[in-house]
Amino acid sequence: MTNNSIGCNVTECKHHAKSQNLCTLNHIEVVKHKEPATCAECTDCGSFLKG
Ligand code: SF4
Repeated sequence: MTNNSIGCNVTECKHHAKSQNLCTLNHIEVVKHKEPATCAECTDCGSFLKG
């Protein structure tokens, strides 16, 4: 089941819909790895799973 509310182009992720650039999870956790986060690159999808 795809989630139209979560667009994603990380096709390498196990949760990616593959046929469309969407996530299949109902909920994802967005995380930061720089404190404070000052740019988009400081954030990531914490729900990524190696496919
Ligand atoms: S879990 Fe994150 S990285 Fe994986 S498909 Fe969903 S939004 Fe993309």
